[in-house]
Amino acid sequence: MADNTTNQTGNAKKCAHPSCDCTVTDNAKYCSAYCEGAKDTVEIGCGCGHPGCR
Ligand SMILES: [Zn+2]
Ligand SMILES: [Zn+2]
Repeated sequence: MADNTTNQTGNAKKCAHPSCDCTVTDNAKYCSAYCEGAKDTVEIGCGCGHPGCR
């Protein structure tokens, strides 16, 4: 597969939670209700429970 696009395409962006590395769709700000509720909480790790996210 061709993978010559190293720049962000804009189709995917990260969850707005600072400790979360999940990808969210363009019309969503958080990956889950957990992150939306924890947006003002600084945590070491994310507890959203998504695979690949700590
Ligand atoms: Zn997460
Ligand atoms: Zn999240």
